[in-house]
Amino acid sequence: MPINRYRIISIEKTAEDVKIFRMEPIDGRLLSYKPGQFAFIHLLDSEGRTTLKRPYSIASAPHAPYLEFCIKIINGAMTSQLEKLDQGATVGIEGPAGHFFYGDQRNVGLVASGTGVAPMIGILRDIAEKKLEGNFILFYSTKTLDSMVYQHEFENIQKINPNIKIVITLTREQPVGWKGELGRINQEMITKHVIDPKNMDWWMCGQMEMIKAMKAILVELCIDLKRVKMEGWG
Ligand SMILES: Cc1cc2nc3c(=O)[nH]c(=O)nc-3n(C[C@H](O)[C@H](O)[C@H](O)COP(=O)(O)OP(=O)(O)OC[C@H]3O[C@@H](n4cnc5c(N)ncnc54)[C@H](O)[C@@H]3O)c2cc1C
Repeated sequence: MPINRYRIISIEKTAEDVKIFRMEPIDGRLLSYKPGQFAFIHLLDSEGRTTLKRPYSIASAPHAPYLEFCIKIINGAMTSQLEKLDQGATVGIEGPAGHFFYGDQRNVGLVASGTGVAPMIGILRDIAEKKLEGNFILFYSTKTLDSMVYQHEFENIQKINPNIKIVITLTREQPVGWKGELGRINQEMITKHVIDPKNMDWWMCGQMEMIKAMKAILVELCIDLKRVKMEGWG
């Protein structure tokens, strides 16, 4: 796949160790992709050659005039370099890739932990922009309020499309006055918020451990795994 050069137009430090990068194609031709897909970010040397690349879910939706990525800085080979980049820096983008994408389904369950929320925000932005009718729910598990990303975006998305419901669960703290869920996403939490989970298409993204646990829960709920898309890392 060709590698296109993109300029970073903004970098937002959103949670403890997460940065949101927005970038525009230098030649003006934005990648064509489906919500939820990923692309490879390439670090380039002064000759434009790739020195390192990693896959990242696209957090923007196709209607946006830029690509957005939500990246946890873990000080590994790639993220320690991304951490040092400033607005205006150039990277390479290769893609899109992956079968983890959304295609206008109307009964949708999304399950995310940590930065696994990145492709989900792209999917929800698409559902909001198209003002789709249906039942759309995101279960988002995050350690603490400070580690939560996209809080304001969740509010915007729900204002634009009230068919979208967002359930946030905190796994490592119980702040005073918190009205959301607590603990890991489990079967009870799903059946509390979803009337007919069997009649939905599911997307799950996050750490492999969460994906495995969720897969077992969906099987318990008699959900046909052909209706479940999974993407895991970390
Ligand atoms: C399809 C796909 C989509 C992805 N999308 C995203 C995304 O949207 N946002 C994002 O932040 N990452 C995403 N990743 C992970 C990303 O590709 C890198 O693996 C991650 O940024 C670490 O790269 P690194 O070079 O800094 O670490 P490395 O030097 O490659 O790895 C260092 C160590 O950290 C572990 N590790 C990798 N990821 C994590 C993590 N998130 N938390 C804790 N430990 C980890 C590795 O297993 C390894 O042991 C995605 C991965 C895949 C396969």
